[in-house]
Amino acid sequence: MDVTIVVPLYNEDESLPELCAWIERVVNANNFSYEIILIDDGSTDDSWSVVEKLRAANSHIKGIRFQRNYGKSAALNEGFKAALGDVVITMDADLQDSPDEIPELRRLIVEDGFDMVSGWKKKRFDNTLTKNIPSKFFNWATRRASKIQLHDFNCGLKSYRRKVVKSIEVYGEMHRYIPVLAKWAGFRKIGEKVVEHRARKYGTTKFGWERFINGFLDLASIMFVSKYGKRPMHFFGLIGSFFFMLGLVMALYLLIAKIYDPANTLTNRISFYIALTSMIIGTQLFMAGFLGELIARNAPGRNFYLIEQKLGIE
Ligand code: UDP
Ligand code: MG
Repeated sequence: MDVTIVVPLYNEDESLPELCAWIERVVNANNFSYEIILIDDGSTDDSWSVVEKLRAANSHIKGIRFQRNYGKSAALNEGFKAALGDVVITMDADLQDSPDEIPELRRLIVEDGFDMVSGWKKKRFDNTLTKNIPSKFFNWATRRASKIQLHDFNCGLKSYRRKVVKSIEVYGEMHRYIPVLAKWAGFRKIGEKVVEHRARKYGTTKFGWERFINGFLDLASIMFVSKYGKRPMHFFGLIGSFFFMLGLVMALYLLIAKIYDPANTLTNRISFYIALTSMIIGTQLFMAGFLGELIARNAPGRNFYLIEQKLGIE
């Protein structure tokens, strides 16, 4: 199969027919063998019945329906697991991404040898204040932290070599960092393509201002996990040792002071309290390190999501 189009959707019933018709037009014009996987992330509108209707009219369309809303990352993850195409292209359901980009996104993987190509919404049609400016900052921070030179990490329109999507697990809200996950899994050829971006035609955005807080917390944890995920003790142990040694040295100093001058009251000295808390913090960090090691060693491999129904997917 030439290409799998993965579309996560949450309450997008109005957009779906138009989106699928457009994708079909493009892939047929290019003679691609294809499938469209629509992942209904627990919609409360008529999205699923629209998916069923679309599937009935075209067997290239497949569907997965979550039992509840798990988020875009979970939807992408399940779409990736089911994908059969040599190239997998993800796309938002809201018609903000143009299916006309499919042939070029596929060519970059098949002919130019990219492992993954991320869309770049150079000219964005979103609210400037709440989306564009924070997103510039967010992309800058991610570039710095990950050393991947992309302008637009969180673009919904991306293409992948099949092996890439089968090698990564997108969980939590990590869909913002798929290029980082891919690099981390060993795929180095990550490219970028300027894509057309359009204003949302139907429905409303599903991500509010919390996206930035969550985004930065996720960035911090992804950098931590990529570096210390399998060896948490190296992180906690290091700062734990630092605090413990600091406390110990101060305590010894106070002890010697006490031996030389037994009348010396230690408890009214600030160093006494620093020594005490430092040793306690150090021990705590060590314990966190040990717990982290235990969890890292025994962690089950995968998250799983409750799926209500599948169409055309075994
Ligand atoms: N989406 C989803 N689950 C969610 C939230 C969003 O599958 O919990 C889908 C949504 O339907 C859309 C895509 O993710 O297809 C991007 O969402 P949206 O357009 O709201 O984000 P924005 O473009 O405003 O960043
Ligand atoms: Mg959108």
